[in-house]
Amino acid sequence: MYLIVLCIRGLTHMDAMQSLFRPESIAVIGASRDPKGIGYQCLKNMIDSGYKGKMYPVNPKADEICGIKVYHNVTEIPEKVDLGLIVVPAKFAIQAVEDCGKKGIKSLAVISSGFSEIGNDDLEKQLVDTAAKYGTRILGPNIVGVLNNPLKCNASFAPYLPYHGTAALISQSGALLIGIDARSWIDKIGISHMVSIGNMADVDFADLVEFFSSDKDTQAVSLYIEGFKNGRRFLEVAKKSSKPIIALKSGVSKRGAAAAASHTGSLAGSSKVYDAAFRQSKVISAHDLDDLFERTMALSLQPPMHGKNVLVITNGGGVGVMSTDSAEKYGIPLEDAPEDLKAMMRKHMPEFGSPKNPVDITGQGDRHHYYNAVKDALSHNWVDALVVLYCETSLTNPDEIAQGICDAVKEANVRKIPIAISFVGGERCINAGAWLVKNGLPYYKTPDGAMNGMGALREYAIYSEEAANEFKPWKVDKKAALDIIAAVRKEGRNALTEPEAKLVFAAYGLPIPKGKLARNVEEALKVASEVAYPVVMKIVSPEIIHKSDAGGVKVNLKTPEDVRAAYDLITANARKYNAKANIHGVYVQNMAPWGTETIIGSTNDAQFGPTVMFGLGGVFVEVMKDVSFRIAPIGQKEAQTMASEIKGYKILEGTRGEKRKDINAVTEAVSKLSQLVHDLQNEVAEVDANPVIVYEDGKGLSVVDARIILK
Ligand code: ADP
Ligand code: MG
Repeated sequence: MYLIVLCIRGLTHMDAMQSLFRPESIAVIGASRDPKGIGYQCLKNMIDSGYKGKMYPVNPKADEICGIKVYHNVTEIPEKVDLGLIVVPAKFAIQAVEDCGKKGIKSLAVISSGFSEIGNDDLEKQLVDTAAKYGTRILGPNIVGVLNNPLKCNASFAPYLPYHGTAALISQSGALLIGIDARSWIDKIGISHMVSIGNMADVDFADLVEFFSSDKDTQAVSLYIEGFKNGRRFLEVAKKSSKPIIALKSGVSKRGAAAAASHTGSLAGSSKVYDAAFRQSKVISAHDLDDLFERTMALSLQPPMHGKNVLVITNGGGVGVMSTDSAEKYGIPLEDAPEDLKAMMRKHMPEFGSPKNPVDITGQGDRHHYYNAVKDALSHNWVDALVVLYCETSLTNPDEIAQGICDAVKEANVRKIPIAISFVGGERCINAGAWLVKNGLPYYKTPDGAMNGMGALREYAIYSEEAANEFKPWKVDKKAALDIIAAVRKEGRNALTEPEAKLVFAAYGLPIPKGKLARNVEEALKVASEVAYPVVMKIVSPEIIHKSDAGGVKVNLKTPEDVRAAYDLITANARKYNAKANIHGVYVQNMAPWGTETIIGSTNDAQFGPTVMFGLGGVFVEVMKDVSFRIAPIGQKEAQTMASEIKGYKILEGTRGEKRKDINAVTEAVSKLSQLVHDLQNEVAEVDANPVIVYEDGKGLSVVDARIILK
């Protein structure tokens, strides 16, 4: 039964997306006679952009707008309507949605504003609830509209359709969408669909990414994001998408986050968590608009870059050197070409050229030189990707160079390796660039842009490979963990004491020092001899979370006398620190030998749920914030990538004569902890293993402190 409901939901969802993006007929509810009104502009834009479907203006007071018959109510339209554009003032929107539902319209793009963006949450909820009664989906409200290049339909109040191409662009900001629309013509960013997503009261990023990843007119999906309603679902959909997704997430600075939150009413998370979440679901990040365009250009036109060898062909030293710097910036190793490839390249340049990488065919390089060099490069197996650079010269014609490159690609790119091109120059170069884009080759004004595009293609290949590493659960004792938590809850607490937290850790296979809770000195002495000296003793009280601050930790206790003295001192300190603290006793544990201090932790991200964090201990975390994040759960391979992201990773690898640390034990622990927080996400809010002492390779680690805070 559940499956059937799911299937029907899936079908109606796809139906709704079809009617949103392939409508054969559109009603404009709130079409206006006033040429300045948005209701007029939307209809006029649809006509002007060349939409061939049926258009039905709806307005109770008009009979004809833009030469088209007007219906007084949407229910009076005799034919089927696929998409409804709602442009009426917010206070009339509910009635309009009701009418559209009755008419059987599956999708509504609600352009009207005046909902949650100005605090009218109730009205927005009413809007969605009304639509839901009829199984109607809502895009928006508070949007610019939907711009559809394949159908030549500008159902929006943006002035014209974007430059035609294969990237679907979804923007949470309407004004920005109109800006990008115009920019697309300047930068030749080819766009299939442009969608203004507005308040995301119903249709969200995940719905659209899901649709566009199976849309035949779309090769890449480009997003401007301020925040998600359900970040976790977005990640799942993105991970499954067969097409690259590029995301510009704004509001990552603290002030920016506040601005975004007040803008769309959605929470913005920390940039580190976003970066991790995106990488895990093979979403390519862009840090600003230029970056978004450059990366979208490459990913919407070219295949991912597998392998690591990029060959650069240039006609000038300057752009060549610049591309070398950029290659490093975007993580592309630019290695010397093998001898036989160099010999091939030497044939296509004068004596003073250079066959190294970048291959400099010099300013004399003309159409034939480019053609031959590109053709030979494409045929050589060492070359995994090609970046072709050109500087305008008085001897050569950019159009001809473009033609030469394009011919070579058409004839010789049988391996379908990715290519990016930069022409540096004036108007002739820009025109040649536009022609290249029309022929499926990404064109950039700067060598850095081309290298950035290539970097994105390489990132996409790497992230896709990483994302294919499925998380395999470890054998754990979830029930034991839940029982401990239940017992804590029963006492009305939401902080586990260290012994309790450590038992939960142990149930998930994390190594902890031997230890036991002692309720008096005699017990403490007994435990100390059981776990073996030297021991560490720590106060156990739900009210004392930071034990050292309360004078509640004594380390390196070597004799029974030490234990006796420590017991009295610790309990006395704790009472002094907090007279009301409920003291369970003292935790006596074996003292772990010294090693490298690290931290493994977890918080619940408002948008993505449980995360896992790793870093080196002490100043690395406190001062330098040198930590990396992932969304839980993650497998050990992913944990390895995650660990290697911190700046202090070299310390784990062993520097200055120090031996390599047990990185394998670290990644295993990170993966296990990620499973713990994911399995127990309904219970656990925060986890801290601080410190985790890591030993030399093969000698494992020890989680010497554990903290778990419940939801
Ligand atoms: P706090 O609540 O103050 O964080 P911890 O349990 O982390 O208390 O103990 C404070 C310090 O004592 C740790 O950072 C670590 O250096 C040391 N320590 C605690 N337990 C052990 C142990 N079992 N073996 C070795 N050192 C320990
Ligand atoms: Mg600690």
